[in-house]
This record gives sequence, structure tokens and C-alpha cells, in this order.
Amino acid sequence: MNRLKIAIQKKGRLSEQSLRLLRECGIRISNGGKLKAEATNFPVDVLYLRDDDIPQYVADGVADVGILGENVVLEKGKKVRVAEKLGFARCRLSLAVKREEKYVGLSWLNGKKIASTYPNILRRFLEEQGIAAGIEEISGSVEIAPGIGLADAVCDIVSTGSTLMMNGLREVETILRSEAVLIANPSLEGERQKILGQLRFRIRAVQNAGQYKYILLNAPDDSLETICALLPGMKSPTILPLAEKGWNSVHSVVKEDTFWEVIDNLRQAGAQGILVCPIEKMFL
Ligand code: ATP
Ligand code: MG
Repeated sequence: MNRLKIAIQKKGRLSEQSLRLLRECGIRISNGGKLKAEATNFPVDVLYLRDDDIPQYVADGVADVGILGENVVLEKGKKVRVAEKLGFARCRLSLAVKREEKYVGLSWLNGKKIASTYPNILRRFLEEQGIAAGIEEISGSVEIAPGIGLADAVCDIVSTGSTLMMNGLREVETILRSEAVLIANPSLEGERQKILGQLRFRIRAVQNAGQYKYILLNAPDDSLETICALLPGMKSPTILPLAEKGWNSVHSVVKEDTFWEVIDNLRQAGAQGILVCPIEKMFL
């Protein structure tokens, strides 16, 4: 069958952004809360699953690709390949102890018990660090484990740290950093491999667009050179003469992360009437 099967999380923190990414890639999906949906304008089918099951299904070829957190990919250790990092659902897997504990470093964990839903990642970490601690595998609500006497520490997903704080815990070590990724079956070939290539091309266009802004400004003749040097753009900036003599309109793109610095420099160089617009897609 010449359609690519994509597994995404049915319900949870990744669902909405996974669907949004597919939508931004121009893929229209009729979503009726079913297990499976077909895109109407691109050869993909979407399977809605629990994120824990996605690595297994992709490894078995039930799905060809999947979107989920890197943390789950590493925990499950199935034979899948990370095809693309997606930049959302950023979080970290951390160790936390009760606020009042005199934690002095990893050696404190020797002989202690750690509750986690990530026993495999945790076991590997402890082995690497040469720490002999017990692992209490539980399936949820990890943060309450120290309070009820189930464990001395926890190993859990953290983003802001507010859940830990509310439960009287203190983050002491980061084990790994994670974000959503697109995983693929390693033996994908033929038509489906080609569709995956097209999908990745679209994903990168969406991601690039998010990292850049389109910028337009007015520049007097005598500062044109300085201003253009500040705006290298994709190749070089566009320069158009204004109706008023001695002035030009300069168009270019700037990276989001250097944006404010560039704007300050442009103003100092004599730029006026600066307009900044979002970019929807960008093909580098
Ligand atoms: P499921 O029912 O599908 O098994 P779940 O409860 O295991 O869902 P969620 O809580 O929806 O999973 O989280 C899914 C993924 O989102 C996590 O594996 C992680 O990669 C990421 N994530 C979890 N918590 C956060 C957070 N606080 N901030 C950002 N990303 C997070
Ligand atoms: Mg899960």
C-alpha cells in the first residue's frame, strides 16, 4: 500500500502539537476521534495511539513513522531511527529528592530507593555513574512517592519544576533532555520512504519559517551599505528605490534569536519605518 502510516499520541501533551505540525505541513486530516484517519490531500494515514506503544508499533511496521517524546524512545529501546527532531514538548528527565534532604551529590543515592516510570533510562544512568540504588517502577504519580514512604528519591519528567515544588521535592540532577521527535521504521523503503522524504522536507520548511522573520525597512543612500551588511538574508537583501529620492526600501530575513540585536543595530545605522512579518514556509 502506497500510503505512509503515522502514529501520533491519541490524547495527551503531544496530541495537539503533533496534529498542528501535520496541518502546517499542508496535510488535511478528518479527525473523528477514531483510531485511524486518512489524509485527504497527501498519502498518509494517521493512527492515534498511547505514546508508550508507538516505538513498538513503528519497530514492528504496524506504523511506518511516529511522533513522540525522545524520552519514551530511549526508555523503550526499540529498533527505530530518529528521522527529525521537532522542537516541541521540551522537557528533561531529572532526579529529585525531598526539599529537606542533605543531598551532597550522586553518592547520596547509594543504598536508596528511586521511584520512576523510566526504569531503563534510570538503570543505565546509575550503572554509568557507578551508583547502587534500588529502582521502584511505578506507572504514574511519581512525585508523591517520597511523601508516602515508597522511595527516597524520584526520577521524573520536569519542565517548569512546579509539580516537584508542590510536592515538597527539589530537583538535584538532570539525566537527559528531551523534545518531540519523528521516528521511523529502519527498513522503510520504496514509495513510503519517498513519502517520508516529502514529509521531512515539509517539516523542515515549517521549522525554518518559525526561526526567521521577514523584515522591510527604509534606508537612506548613505547608510545603505552598512544596513545591507547587517542583513545578509538568504542570499542578499533586496533593494528597491523609494519614490522619494535618496531613499531605498530594503527587504530581507532575520533569525528570530538575533532579532532584537539586529533591530538595534539597524536603527543606529539609520534605518527607518522597520516592519517585521512572520514567515509561513521557508525553503532553504
Ligand atoms: P499516554 O496516555 O499517551 O501514555 P502520557 O501520560 O504517558 O500519555 P503525557 O503526559 O501526555 O504522556 O506526555 C507525553 C510526552 O510529553 C512525554 O513523554 C514528554 O516527552 C512530554 N512531556 C511530558 N511532560 C511535559 C512537560 N511538563 N512539558 C513539556 N513536555 C512534557
Ligand atoms: Mg505514556
